[in-house]
Amino acid sequence: MNNRCHMAKIKFLFLSILISLPHTLFPAEKPTFILISFDGFRWDYTERGLTPNLDFMAQNGVKASSLKPTYPSKTFPNHLSIVTGMHTENHGIIYNDINDPFSGKEYRIGSDPANRDSRWYQGEAIWETLRRQGVRTASYFWPGSEIEMAERHPDIFEHYDHNLPYETRIDGVIEWLQLPVGTRPDFITLYFHETDSYGHGFGPASPQINRAIARLDLMLGRLFTGLKKIDQFEQTNIVVVSDHGMTAIGEKRVVRVDKFLADEKYEVMGYGPMIGIRPVESRIEQVYHNLKKQEFHFKVYKREDVPIWFHYSNHPFIPPLILIAEMGWTLTTEPVRNMGKGNHGYDNHHLDMHAVFHAMGPAFKKGYTTGTLNNIDIYPLICRIFEVMPRQNIDGRLDRIGFILKEEN
Ligand code: AMP
Ligand code: ZN
Ligand code: ZN
Repeated sequence: MNNRCHMAKIKFLFLSILISLPHTLFPAEKPTFILISFDGFRWDYTERGLTPNLDFMAQNGVKASSLKPTYPSKTFPNHLSIVTGMHTENHGIIYNDINDPFSGKEYRIGSDPANRDSRWYQGEAIWETLRRQGVRTASYFWPGSEIEMAERHPDIFEHYDHNLPYETRIDGVIEWLQLPVGTRPDFITLYFHETDSYGHGFGPASPQINRAIARLDLMLGRLFTGLKKIDQFEQTNIVVVSDHGMTAIGEKRVVRVDKFLADEKYEVMGYGPMIGIRPVESRIEQVYHNLKKQEFHFKVYKREDVPIWFHYSNHPFIPPLILIAEMGWTLTTEPVRNMGKGNHGYDNHHLDMHAVFHAMGPAFKKGYTTGTLNNIDIYPLICRIFEVMPRQNIDGRLDRIGFILKEEN
């Protein structure tokens, strides 16, 4: 080998090492993914001219006409459906408040020990799937994110504090994104309750809800600004969803279910758009027939006969009798006080219960609008973006949502 050839070989070797060095020292960063929930943000709230930042996302990303929740269209069931890709009957959070008839244990929304107890959660949340496959995860609130068992919560998470200022949550996320590689999360959730609270209190057509809509959009703008300041706006995938919509209710549309249950012993699950009744075992058939005769602005089903499109039969904690109210009607077993002006939890196929879906970032098509998406399809979508293997026992399907990704054409 002559000298010249030898030198060229050394030069080539040196160059190859130099080229591969940045990859060894600084592993290629995955694009960040931020999943934001605006609780109770109905699909059509973006049509009120109050949401410049969501409009910006629509112009520069993907907007769905609406996002279909799972049944019942309540907060905990749907937040869990979004992160597990499962119907409520399969992930186990079948309502905000659940009774386990076998152990007598109770799950109550916002109740600390129960909400952290892994036994209630039968689905695998996206942060568990991602963590197991090498993606770092964090949560600034999400139902189910505080499970005590070490491998079932995100790497970083905060205990729910309803009154924590929204600004603090956003600034917290921006801080996480500046952590050193190896600690810095790649997947983050954020949660805001504003539109749910004002929707309940004042209804979906009130000036108060309009202020809540504008405030949440402003918070989205604050997140954009924060990301731009740390030079991470372009490389971040941002998805804004809500768990359900909202519909107007009123005192003239109330059904006192207890009047049909005189002399019966029973346990009640829920209030309002849906009620589950657990009579004494030997009385189930008779109570069902008694309620059936009273069907007026509601329907009663035996658990196993709940129409298949609700996917609400297949869980042992679902009470034996399910009463589903007509849109806007309230079912109750006691006198109602301060019932508010809006509610959700109704038929998830009704448009008033539909939520919002916006996505923007390197993974998504730009300026693309699509029809209604299903919230259970978000889990396989996120798995696809991170190139991780989804759980095989989910209800969500990539083939109903994958077309919103840039790479899929
Ligand atoms: P609802 O309208 O009854 O379906 O539930 C909405 C309420 O859920 C909100 O007002 C919050 O107070 C509560 N909530 C939302 N996320 C969490 C969480 N991670 N932990 C506890 N409570 C929560
Ligand atoms: Zn909600
Ligand atoms: Zn609510």
